Amino acid sequence: MKREFKNLLKEKSRADAPDILIVSSECAPISKSGGLADVVGALPKNLAALGFDARVITPYHRVVKERYGNKTEFMFSFSINLGWRSQYVGILKLELDGVIIYLVENDFYFGDRMYLGSVAEGEQYAYFNLAVLNAISNLGFSPDILHCNDWQAAMLPMLIKTDPDYAHLRHIKTLLTIHNIAFQGRYDLSFFSEHFGISDMYFTPEFIELHGAGSFLKAGCVFADAINTVSPSYADEICVPFFGEGLEGILSARRHELSGILNGIDSSVFNPYTDPLIHTNYHKGRLSGKAKCKESLMFDLGLKAPPDTPLIAMVTRMTGQKGFDIVTRVLDEMMGFDICFVLLGTGDRRYEDFMREAEARHRGRLCAYIGYDESLSHKVYAGADLLLMPSLFEPCGLSQMIAMRYGTLPIVRETGGLKDSVMPYNKYTGEGNGFSFSNYNAHEMKEAVYTAVRLYRDDRAAFNKLLRCAMETDFDFLRCAEHYARLYIKML
Ligand code: ADP
Repeated sequence: MKREFKNLLKEKSRADAPDILIVSSECAPISKSGGLADVVGALPKNLAALGFDARVITPYHRVVKERYGNKTEFMFSFSINLGWRSQYVGILKLELDGVIIYLVENDFYFGDRMYLGSVAEGEQYAYFNLAVLNAISNLGFSPDILHCNDWQAAMLPMLIKTDPDYAHLRHIKTLLTIHNIAFQGRYDLSFFSEHFGISDMYFTPEFIELHGAGSFLKAGCVFADAINTVSPSYADEICVPFFGEGLEGILSARRHELSGILNGIDSSVFNPYTDPLIHTNYHKGRLSGKAKCKESLMFDLGLKAPPDTPLIAMVTRMTGQKGFDIVTRVLDEMMGFDICFVLLGTGDRRYEDFMREAEARHRGRLCAYIGYDESLSHKVYAGADLLLMPSLFEPCGLSQMIAMRYGTLPIVRETGGLKDSVMPYNKYTGEGNGFSFSNYNAHEMKEAVYTAVRLYRDDRAAFNKLLRCAMETDFDFLRCAEHYARLYIKML
Protein backbone atom coordinates (compact mmCIF):
# COMPACT_ATOMS: atom_id res chain seq x y z
CA MET A 1 0.00 0.00 0.00
CA LYS A 2 2.72 2.40 1.06
CA ARG A 3 4.88 1.58 -1.97
CA GLU A 4 1.96 2.09 -4.31
CA PHE A 5 1.31 5.51 -2.78
CA LYS A 6 4.94 6.58 -2.99
CA ASN A 7 4.75 5.79 -6.72
CA LEU A 8 1.70 7.96 -7.03
CA LEU A 9 3.52 10.82 -5.37
CA LYS A 10 6.60 10.27 -7.52
CA GLU A 11 4.57 11.04 -10.63
CA LYS A 12 4.20 14.59 -9.38
CA SER A 13 7.43 14.68 -7.33
CA ARG A 14 7.48 15.41 -3.61
CA ALA A 15 7.94 19.13 -4.17
CA ASP A 16 4.53 19.20 -5.82
CA ALA A 17 2.70 17.79 -2.82
CA PRO A 18 0.11 20.47 -2.05
CA ASP A 19 0.36 22.51 1.15
CA ILE A 20 -2.66 21.98 3.36
CA LEU A 21 -4.28 24.17 6.00
CA ILE A 22 -6.67 22.12 8.14
CA VAL A 23 -9.41 24.21 9.75
CA SER A 24 -11.14 22.73 12.77
CA SER A 25 -12.89 23.72 15.97
CA GLU A 26 -10.81 21.20 17.93
CA CYS A 27 -7.52 19.35 17.60
CA ALA A 28 -6.08 16.60 19.83
CA PRO A 29 -4.20 16.70 22.07
CA ILE A 30 -4.66 20.43 22.73
CA SER A 31 -8.47 20.50 22.61
CA LYS A 32 -10.85 17.58 22.35
CA SER A 33 -14.51 16.82 22.78
CA GLY A 34 -14.79 13.91 20.33
CA GLY A 35 -13.48 11.93 17.37
CA LEU A 36 -13.05 15.09 15.20
CA ALA A 37 -10.13 16.17 17.40
CA ASP A 38 -8.43 12.78 17.06
CA VAL A 39 -8.57 12.91 13.27
CA VAL A 40 -7.38 16.52 13.05
CA GLY A 41 -4.57 15.75 15.51
CA ALA A 42 -3.36 12.64 13.71
CA LEU A 43 -3.73 13.76 10.08
CA PRO A 44 -0.96 16.39 9.81
CA LYS A 45 1.60 14.19 11.58
CA ASN A 46 0.91 11.32 9.21
CA LEU A 47 0.81 13.59 6.16
CA ALA A 48 4.24 14.89 7.18
CA ALA A 49 5.51 11.30 7.04
CA LEU A 50 4.30 11.27 3.42
CA GLY A 51 6.13 14.49 2.54
CA PHE A 52 3.28 17.00 2.92
CA ASP A 53 3.37 20.30 4.80
CA ALA A 54 0.00 20.23 6.57
CA ARG A 55 -0.79 22.75 9.30
CA VAL A 56 -3.82 23.33 11.50
CA ILE A 57 -5.75 26.48 12.39
CA THR A 58 -8.04 26.19 15.39
CA PRO A 59 -9.48 28.35 18.20
CA TYR A 60 -7.30 29.29 21.16
CA HIS A 61 -9.78 27.82 23.64
CA ARG A 62 -9.24 28.44 27.35
CA VAL A 63 -8.09 24.81 27.84
CA VAL A 64 -5.39 25.34 25.24
CA LYS A 65 -4.26 28.60 26.82
CA GLU A 66 -4.02 26.95 30.25
CA ARG A 67 -2.03 23.94 29.12
CA TYR A 68 0.04 25.28 26.23
CA GLY A 69 0.09 29.05 26.83
CA ASN A 70 3.82 29.10 27.66
CA LYS A 71 4.69 27.29 24.41
CA THR A 72 2.86 29.63 22.06
CA GLU A 73 4.35 32.47 20.06
CA PHE A 74 2.32 35.60 19.25
CA MET A 75 2.34 36.30 15.49
CA PHE A 76 0.03 39.24 14.69
CA SER A 77 -3.39 40.75 15.39
CA PHE A 78 -6.09 42.63 13.50
CA SER A 79 -9.82 43.42 13.68
CA ILE A 80 -12.70 42.02 11.69
CA ASN A 81 -16.24 43.22 11.24
CA LEU A 82 -18.84 40.80 12.50
CA GLY A 83 -22.24 42.34 11.86
CA TRP A 84 -22.09 45.84 13.35
CA ARG A 85 -19.23 45.00 15.71
CA SER A 86 -15.51 45.17 15.26
CA GLN A 87 -13.80 42.20 16.90
CA TYR A 88 -10.20 41.55 17.86
CA VAL A 89 -8.35 38.60 16.31
CA GLY A 90 -4.99 37.45 17.66
CA ILE A 91 -3.00 34.81 15.80
CA LEU A 92 -0.54 32.70 17.75
CA LYS A 93 1.63 29.79 16.72
CA LEU A 94 2.31 26.54 18.53
CA GLU A 95 4.60 23.76 17.33
CA LEU A 96 3.72 20.34 18.64
CA ASP A 97 5.26 17.03 17.50
CA GLY A 98 6.65 18.83 14.47
CA VAL A 99 3.21 20.15 13.42
CA ILE A 100 2.51 23.89 13.24
CA ILE A 101 -0.80 24.89 14.78
CA TYR A 102 -2.13 28.43 14.32
CA LEU A 103 -4.39 29.57 17.15
CA VAL A 104 -7.17 32.14 16.78
CA GLU A 105 -7.41 34.20 19.95
CA ASN A 106 -10.42 36.07 21.25
CA ASP A 107 -11.33 35.54 24.90
CA PHE A 108 -14.94 36.52 24.36
CA TYR A 109 -15.60 33.76 21.81
CA PHE A 110 -13.08 31.17 22.95
CA GLY A 111 -13.31 30.99 26.71
CA ASP A 112 -14.32 28.17 29.03
CA ARG A 113 -16.70 26.46 26.62
CA MET A 114 -15.55 25.17 23.24
CA TYR A 115 -19.14 25.22 22.07
CA LEU A 116 -21.40 27.97 23.43
CA GLY A 117 -24.69 26.37 22.34
CA SER A 118 -27.68 27.89 20.51
CA VAL A 119 -27.27 31.09 18.53
CA ALA A 120 -24.18 32.17 20.49
CA GLU A 121 -22.41 29.17 19.01
CA GLY A 122 -23.38 30.34 15.52
CA GLU A 123 -21.79 33.71 16.20
CA GLN A 124 -18.76 32.03 17.78
CA TYR A 125 -18.02 30.05 14.62
CA ALA A 126 -19.08 32.79 12.21
CA TYR A 127 -16.31 34.76 13.90
CA PHE A 128 -13.93 31.80 13.48
CA ASN A 129 -14.61 31.51 9.72
CA LEU A 130 -14.03 35.23 9.17
CA ALA A 131 -10.92 35.29 11.37
CA VAL A 132 -9.40 32.41 9.40
CA LEU A 133 -10.10 34.04 6.03
CA ASN A 134 -8.57 37.32 7.14
CA ALA A 135 -5.51 35.65 8.65
CA ILE A 136 -4.50 33.37 5.76
CA SER A 137 -2.55 35.92 3.72
CA ASN A 138 -0.33 36.86 6.67
CA LEU A 139 0.55 33.40 7.99
CA GLY A 140 3.70 33.14 5.90
CA PHE A 141 2.27 29.85 4.67
CA SER A 142 0.36 29.74 1.45
CA PRO A 143 -1.97 26.74 1.37
CA ASP A 144 -3.07 25.11 -1.87
CA ILE A 145 -5.95 23.41 -0.12
CA LEU A 146 -8.12 24.55 2.76
CA HIS A 147 -9.39 21.43 4.49
CA CYS A 148 -12.58 22.45 6.34
CA ASN A 149 -13.95 20.15 9.02
CA ASP A 150 -17.63 19.96 9.99
CA TRP A 151 -20.08 22.85 10.12
CA GLN A 152 -17.83 25.07 12.24
CA ALA A 153 -15.55 25.60 9.21
CA ALA A 154 -18.10 25.03 6.46
CA MET A 155 -18.75 28.66 5.45
CA LEU A 156 -15.20 29.07 4.14
CA PRO A 157 -15.79 27.59 0.65
CA MET A 158 -18.82 29.82 0.07
CA LEU A 159 -17.15 33.00 1.31
CA ILE A 160 -14.08 32.37 -0.83
CA LYS A 161 -16.18 31.72 -3.93
CA THR A 162 -18.80 34.46 -3.55
CA ASP A 163 -17.48 37.32 -1.42
CA PRO A 164 -15.40 39.88 -3.37
CA ASP A 165 -13.42 40.62 -0.17
CA TYR A 166 -11.87 37.15 -0.47
CA ALA A 167 -11.39 37.07 -4.26
CA HIS A 168 -7.62 36.98 -3.68
CA LEU A 169 -8.06 33.51 -2.09
CA ARG A 170 -9.90 31.95 -5.02
CA HIS A 171 -6.87 29.97 -6.18
CA ILE A 172 -7.18 27.89 -2.97
CA LYS A 173 -9.17 24.66 -3.36
CA THR A 174 -11.53 23.68 -0.56
CA LEU A 175 -12.31 20.25 0.87
CA LEU A 176 -15.20 19.77 3.29
CA THR A 177 -15.03 16.76 5.60
CA ILE A 178 -18.31 15.77 7.24
CA HIS A 179 -17.65 13.96 10.50
CA ASN A 180 -21.31 13.89 11.56
CA ILE A 181 -24.07 15.27 9.37
CA ALA A 182 -26.46 15.52 12.31
CA PHE A 183 -24.72 18.75 13.36
CA GLN A 184 -25.23 21.44 10.75
CA GLY A 185 -25.02 24.94 12.22
CA ARG A 186 -28.60 25.94 11.33
CA TYR A 187 -29.69 29.52 12.00
CA ASP A 188 -32.24 32.02 10.69
CA LEU A 189 -31.49 33.41 7.25
CA SER A 190 -31.13 36.86 8.85
CA PHE A 191 -28.18 35.47 10.84
CA PHE A 192 -26.31 34.82 7.60
CA SER A 193 -26.95 38.26 6.16
CA GLU A 194 -26.03 39.92 9.45
CA HIS A 195 -22.80 38.04 10.12
CA PHE A 196 -21.53 37.26 6.64
CA GLY A 197 -23.31 39.89 4.55
CA ILE A 198 -24.71 37.13 2.34
CA SER A 199 -27.13 38.40 -0.27
CA ASP A 200 -30.77 37.24 -0.46
CA MET A 201 -30.13 35.51 -3.78
CA TYR A 202 -28.41 32.69 -1.85
CA PHE A 203 -31.40 32.09 0.44
CA THR A 204 -32.88 29.41 -1.81
CA PRO A 205 -32.83 25.60 -1.64
CA GLU A 206 -30.10 25.40 -4.32
CA PHE A 207 -27.80 27.33 -2.00
CA ILE A 208 -27.92 27.59 1.79
CA GLU A 209 -31.61 27.40 2.66
CA LEU A 210 -32.85 24.25 4.37
CA HIS A 211 -36.42 24.00 5.68
CA GLY A 212 -36.71 27.76 6.08
CA ALA A 213 -33.36 28.32 7.80
CA GLY A 214 -29.77 28.60 6.64
CA SER A 215 -27.15 25.92 7.24
CA PHE A 216 -23.37 26.32 7.49
CA LEU A 217 -22.94 22.71 6.45
CA LYS A 218 -25.19 23.07 3.43
CA ALA A 219 -23.14 26.06 2.29
CA GLY A 220 -20.07 23.84 2.48
CA CYS A 221 -21.78 21.02 0.58
CA VAL A 222 -22.78 23.41 -2.20
CA PHE A 223 -19.54 25.36 -2.56
CA ALA A 224 -16.62 23.10 -1.55
CA ASP A 225 -14.53 21.78 -4.43
CA ALA A 226 -14.65 18.29 -2.93
CA ILE A 227 -16.52 16.67 -0.06
CA ASN A 228 -15.69 13.62 1.95
CA THR A 229 -16.95 11.84 4.96
CA VAL A 230 -15.38 9.40 7.37
CA SER A 231 -16.30 6.04 5.84
CA PRO A 232 -17.33 4.79 2.39
CA SER A 233 -20.65 3.40 3.67
CA TYR A 234 -21.56 6.67 5.42
CA ALA A 235 -20.86 8.46 2.12
CA ASP A 236 -23.55 6.27 0.52
CA GLU A 237 -25.91 6.59 3.45
CA ILE A 238 -25.95 10.40 3.63
CA CYS A 239 -27.28 10.48 0.08
CA VAL A 240 -30.61 9.06 1.30
CA PRO A 241 -33.20 10.87 3.46
CA PHE A 242 -32.95 8.62 6.55
CA PHE A 243 -29.31 9.60 7.13
CA GLY A 244 -28.96 12.76 5.04
CA GLU A 245 -30.67 15.17 7.48
CA GLY A 246 -32.01 17.24 4.57
CA LEU A 247 -28.69 17.34 2.69
CA GLU A 248 -29.30 14.14 0.71
CA GLY A 249 -30.39 16.13 -2.37
CA ILE A 250 -27.25 18.21 -2.75
CA LEU A 251 -25.03 15.28 -1.77
CA SER A 252 -26.65 12.94 -4.33
CA ALA A 253 -26.26 15.63 -6.96
CA ARG A 254 -22.55 15.87 -6.08
CA ARG A 255 -22.06 12.14 -5.49
CA HIS A 256 -19.12 12.04 -7.93
CA GLU A 257 -17.30 14.64 -5.78
CA LEU A 258 -18.19 12.95 -2.48
CA SER A 259 -15.91 10.23 -1.16
CA GLY A 260 -15.59 8.21 2.04
CA ILE A 261 -12.29 7.77 3.87
CA LEU A 262 -12.33 5.46 6.86
CA ASN A 263 -10.69 7.06 9.90
CA GLY A 264 -7.83 5.33 11.61
CA ILE A 265 -6.38 5.07 15.09
CA ASP A 266 -2.91 5.73 16.41
CA SER A 267 -1.63 2.18 16.69
CA SER A 268 1.33 3.26 18.80
CA VAL A 269 -1.02 4.64 21.49
CA PHE A 270 -3.48 1.77 21.24
CA ASN A 271 -1.03 -1.09 21.46
CA PRO A 272 -1.64 -3.90 23.96
CA TYR A 273 2.02 -4.84 23.76
CA THR A 274 3.26 -1.49 25.08
CA ASP A 275 0.21 0.24 26.62
CA PRO A 276 1.27 1.41 30.12
CA LEU A 277 -2.35 1.82 31.21
CA ILE A 278 -3.28 -1.87 31.16
CA HIS A 279 -2.56 -4.52 33.81
CA THR A 280 -0.39 -6.86 31.71
CA ASN A 281 0.90 -6.29 28.20
CA TYR A 282 0.22 -8.97 25.59
CA HIS A 283 0.29 -9.71 21.88
CA LYS A 284 -1.55 -12.08 19.60
CA GLY A 285 1.06 -14.81 20.08
CA ARG A 286 0.73 -14.71 23.87
CA LEU A 287 -2.74 -13.99 25.11
CA SER A 288 -2.25 -14.94 28.76
CA GLY A 289 -1.76 -11.20 29.46
CA LYS A 290 -5.26 -10.50 28.15
CA ALA A 291 -6.70 -13.02 30.63
CA LYS A 292 -4.85 -11.18 33.42
CA CYS A 293 -6.28 -7.85 32.20
CA LYS A 294 -9.76 -9.36 32.36
CA GLU A 295 -9.24 -10.73 35.86
CA SER A 296 -7.94 -7.38 37.11
CA LEU A 297 -10.74 -5.40 35.43
CA MET A 298 -13.41 -7.66 36.91
CA PHE A 299 -11.87 -7.31 40.34
CA ASP A 300 -11.59 -3.51 40.09
CA LEU A 301 -15.20 -3.16 38.95
CA GLY A 302 -16.60 -5.59 41.52
CA LEU A 303 -17.70 -8.20 38.98
CA LYS A 304 -17.95 -11.59 40.64
CA ALA A 305 -18.10 -14.44 38.17
CA PRO A 306 -15.87 -17.32 37.04
CA PRO A 307 -13.03 -16.08 34.79
CA ASP A 308 -14.42 -17.79 31.69
CA THR A 309 -17.70 -15.83 31.89
CA PRO A 310 -18.02 -13.79 28.68
CA LEU A 311 -17.42 -10.10 29.47
CA ILE A 312 -19.23 -7.70 27.16
CA ALA A 313 -18.35 -3.99 27.21
CA MET A 314 -19.61 -0.69 25.87
CA VAL A 315 -17.37 2.43 25.83
CA THR A 316 -19.48 5.20 24.49
CA ARG A 317 -21.38 8.45 24.59
CA MET A 318 -24.84 7.56 25.89
CA THR A 319 -27.12 8.93 23.20
CA GLY A 320 -29.81 7.60 20.91
CA GLN A 321 -27.24 7.40 18.09
CA LYS A 322 -25.26 4.79 19.99
CA GLY A 323 -28.15 2.31 20.14
CA PHE A 324 -29.29 2.72 23.72
CA ASP A 325 -32.95 2.40 22.78
CA ILE A 326 -32.42 -1.20 21.76
CA VAL A 327 -29.89 -1.97 24.50
CA THR A 328 -32.28 -0.88 27.24
CA ARG A 329 -35.00 -2.98 25.63
CA VAL A 330 -33.24 -6.36 25.94
CA LEU A 331 -30.44 -5.85 28.46
CA ASP A 332 -32.11 -8.00 31.09
CA GLU A 333 -32.70 -10.77 28.56
CA MET A 334 -29.04 -10.62 27.50
CA MET A 335 -27.93 -10.85 31.12
CA GLY A 336 -29.82 -14.17 31.08
CA PHE A 337 -27.03 -15.52 28.82
CA ASP A 338 -24.92 -15.75 31.98
CA ILE A 339 -22.56 -12.96 30.99
CA CYS A 340 -20.87 -10.00 32.67
CA PHE A 341 -21.45 -6.52 31.30
CA VAL A 342 -19.44 -3.31 31.69
CA LEU A 343 -20.59 0.08 30.55
CA LEU A 344 -18.20 3.05 30.52
CA GLY A 345 -20.08 6.08 29.31
CA THR A 346 -21.83 9.32 29.94
CA GLY A 347 -24.60 11.21 28.19
CA ASP A 348 -28.40 11.35 28.27
CA ARG A 349 -29.80 11.21 31.78
CA ARG A 350 -32.49 8.62 30.97
CA TYR A 351 -29.92 6.11 29.70
CA GLU A 352 -27.56 6.79 32.60
CA ASP A 353 -30.43 6.20 35.06
CA PHE A 354 -31.46 3.02 33.26
CA MET A 355 -27.93 1.64 33.47
CA ARG A 356 -27.58 2.56 37.17
CA GLU A 357 -30.81 0.70 37.90
CA ALA A 358 -29.64 -2.26 35.80
CA GLU A 359 -26.46 -2.34 37.89
CA ALA A 360 -28.57 -2.59 41.03
CA ARG A 361 -30.62 -5.44 39.52
CA HIS A 362 -27.54 -7.38 38.36
CA ARG A 363 -25.07 -6.52 41.10
CA GLY A 364 -21.78 -8.36 40.72
CA ARG A 365 -22.52 -9.07 37.07
CA LEU A 366 -23.07 -5.64 35.58
CA CYS A 367 -21.07 -2.49 36.18
CA ALA A 368 -22.28 0.90 34.94
CA TYR A 369 -19.40 3.35 35.27
CA ILE A 370 -20.99 6.67 34.43
CA GLY A 371 -18.27 9.11 33.48
CA TYR A 372 -15.47 9.81 31.04
CA ASP A 373 -12.22 8.05 31.93
CA GLU A 374 -9.50 7.60 29.31
CA SER A 375 -7.36 5.35 31.47
CA LEU A 376 -10.25 3.05 32.40
CA SER A 377 -11.25 2.85 28.73
CA HIS A 378 -7.89 1.23 27.92
CA LYS A 379 -8.41 -1.28 30.72
CA VAL A 380 -11.89 -2.08 29.42
CA TYR A 381 -10.70 -2.54 25.82
CA ALA A 382 -7.97 -4.89 27.05
CA GLY A 383 -10.02 -6.79 29.61
CA ALA A 384 -13.32 -7.39 27.81
CA ASP A 385 -14.04 -10.28 25.45
CA LEU A 386 -16.62 -8.49 23.34
CA LEU A 387 -17.52 -4.85 22.61
CA LEU A 388 -21.14 -4.02 21.84
CA MET A 389 -21.75 -1.12 19.43
CA PRO A 390 -25.31 -1.29 18.10
CA SER A 391 -25.42 2.23 16.61
CA LEU A 392 -28.46 3.64 14.86
CA PHE A 393 -25.98 5.42 12.61
CA GLU A 394 -22.22 5.65 12.82
CA PRO A 395 -20.19 7.90 10.51
CA CYS A 396 -17.02 5.94 11.30
CA GLY A 397 -16.63 4.86 14.93
CA LEU A 398 -13.27 4.44 16.63
CA SER A 399 -14.23 2.23 19.57
CA GLN A 400 -14.66 -0.87 17.42
CA MET A 401 -11.20 -0.35 15.87
CA ILE A 402 -9.56 0.15 19.26
CA ALA A 403 -11.34 -2.92 20.62
CA MET A 404 -10.10 -5.07 17.72
CA ARG A 405 -6.54 -3.87 18.30
CA TYR A 406 -6.85 -5.24 21.86
CA GLY A 407 -8.35 -8.55 20.68
CA THR A 408 -11.83 -7.66 21.90
CA LEU A 409 -14.34 -8.71 19.26
CA PRO A 410 -16.91 -6.11 18.27
CA ILE A 411 -20.62 -6.85 17.91
CA VAL A 412 -21.91 -4.07 15.67
CA ARG A 413 -24.88 -2.99 13.64
CA GLU A 414 -24.06 -2.90 9.93
CA THR A 415 -24.08 0.84 9.38
CA GLY A 416 -21.53 3.45 8.27
CA GLY A 417 -17.98 2.84 9.41
CA LEU A 418 -19.02 -0.19 11.49
CA LYS A 419 -19.97 -1.96 8.27
CA ASP A 420 -16.67 -0.93 6.66
CA SER A 421 -14.41 -2.04 9.50
CA VAL A 422 -15.98 -5.22 10.89
CA MET A 423 -15.99 -8.42 8.86
CA PRO A 424 -18.73 -10.56 10.44
CA TYR A 425 -18.03 -14.12 11.53
CA ASN A 426 -18.77 -16.65 8.82
CA LYS A 427 -19.63 -19.92 10.50
CA TYR A 428 -18.91 -21.91 7.31
CA THR A 429 -15.39 -20.62 6.66
CA GLY A 430 -14.52 -19.52 10.22
CA GLU A 431 -13.44 -16.14 8.86
CA GLY A 432 -14.17 -12.72 10.32
CA ASN A 433 -13.02 -10.24 12.95
CA GLY A 434 -16.29 -9.62 14.79
CA PHE A 435 -20.06 -10.10 14.73
CA SER A 436 -22.80 -8.01 13.19
CA PHE A 437 -26.53 -7.65 12.64
CA SER A 438 -28.29 -5.64 10.00
CA ASN A 439 -31.54 -4.07 11.25
CA TYR A 440 -31.89 -1.63 14.13
CA ASN A 441 -33.87 -4.14 16.11
CA ALA A 442 -33.38 -5.21 19.73
CA HIS A 443 -33.95 -8.91 19.08
CA GLU A 444 -31.59 -9.02 16.10
CA MET A 445 -28.97 -7.45 18.33
CA LYS A 446 -29.70 -10.02 21.03
CA GLU A 447 -29.28 -12.85 18.50
CA ALA A 448 -25.88 -11.47 17.45
CA VAL A 449 -24.82 -11.29 21.09
CA TYR A 450 -26.02 -14.85 21.60
CA THR A 451 -24.00 -16.06 18.59
CA ALA A 452 -20.86 -14.40 19.97
CA VAL A 453 -21.40 -15.76 23.49
CA ARG A 454 -22.04 -19.28 22.17
CA LEU A 455 -18.88 -19.23 20.09
CA TYR A 456 -16.88 -18.02 23.10
CA ARG A 457 -18.24 -20.86 25.24
CA ASP A 458 -18.52 -23.73 22.76
CA ASP A 459 -15.63 -23.24 20.35
CA ARG A 460 -12.83 -21.21 21.89
CA ALA A 461 -10.42 -22.15 19.07
CA ALA A 462 -12.75 -20.58 16.49
CA PHE A 463 -13.29 -17.56 18.75
CA ASN A 464 -9.53 -17.08 19.19
CA LYS A 465 -9.03 -17.31 15.43
CA LEU A 466 -11.35 -14.32 15.02
CA LEU A 467 -9.58 -12.55 17.86
CA ARG A 468 -6.18 -12.93 16.18
CA CYS A 469 -7.62 -11.78 12.86
CA ALA A 470 -9.06 -8.70 14.63
CA MET A 471 -5.67 -7.91 16.18
CA GLU A 472 -4.02 -8.15 12.76
CA THR A 473 -6.47 -5.83 11.00
CA ASP A 474 -4.66 -2.64 9.98
CA PHE A 475 -6.47 0.47 11.19
CA ASP A 476 -3.36 2.62 11.49
CA PHE A 477 -3.90 6.28 10.75
CA LEU A 478 -1.17 6.24 8.11
CA ARG A 479 -3.52 4.28 5.82
CA CYS A 480 -6.13 6.99 6.33
CA ALA A 481 -3.59 9.77 5.66
CA GLU A 482 -2.61 8.05 2.41
CA HIS A 483 -6.22 8.28 1.23
CA TYR A 484 -6.36 11.99 2.13
CA ALA A 485 -3.06 12.53 0.28
CA ARG A 486 -4.54 10.93 -2.83
CA LEU A 487 -7.66 13.06 -2.55
CA TYR A 488 -5.67 16.30 -2.15
CA ILE A 489 -3.58 15.47 -5.21
CA LYS A 490 -6.71 14.67 -7.22
CA MET A 491 -8.23 18.03 -6.28
CA LEU A 492 -5.43 20.10 -7.83
P1 ADP B 1 -18.03 9.32 18.80
O1 ADP B 1 -16.92 10.19 18.25
O2 ADP B 1 -19.30 9.31 17.98
O3 ADP B 1 -18.31 9.56 20.25
P2 ADP B 1 -16.21 7.12 18.29
O4 ADP B 1 -16.34 5.64 18.46
O5 ADP B 1 -15.80 7.61 16.94
O6 ADP B 1 -17.57 7.79 18.76
O7 ADP B 1 -15.12 7.68 19.31
C1 ADP B 1 -15.34 7.63 20.67
C2 ADP B 1 -13.98 7.76 21.36
O8 ADP B 1 -14.20 8.27 22.66
C3 ADP B 1 -13.28 6.43 21.53
O9 ADP B 1 -11.89 6.67 21.54
C4 ADP B 1 -13.75 5.96 22.91
O10 ADP B 1 -12.81 5.10 23.52
C5 ADP B 1 -13.82 7.28 23.62
N1 ADP B 1 -14.83 7.30 24.69
C6 ADP B 1 -16.17 7.39 24.54
N2 ADP B 1 -16.78 7.41 25.75
C7 ADP B 1 -15.79 7.34 26.66
C8 ADP B 1 -15.76 7.33 28.09
N3 ADP B 1 -16.88 7.41 28.81
N4 ADP B 1 -14.57 7.27 28.71
C9 ADP B 1 -13.43 7.19 27.99
N5 ADP B 1 -13.38 7.19 26.64
C10 ADP B 1 -14.54 7.28 25.99
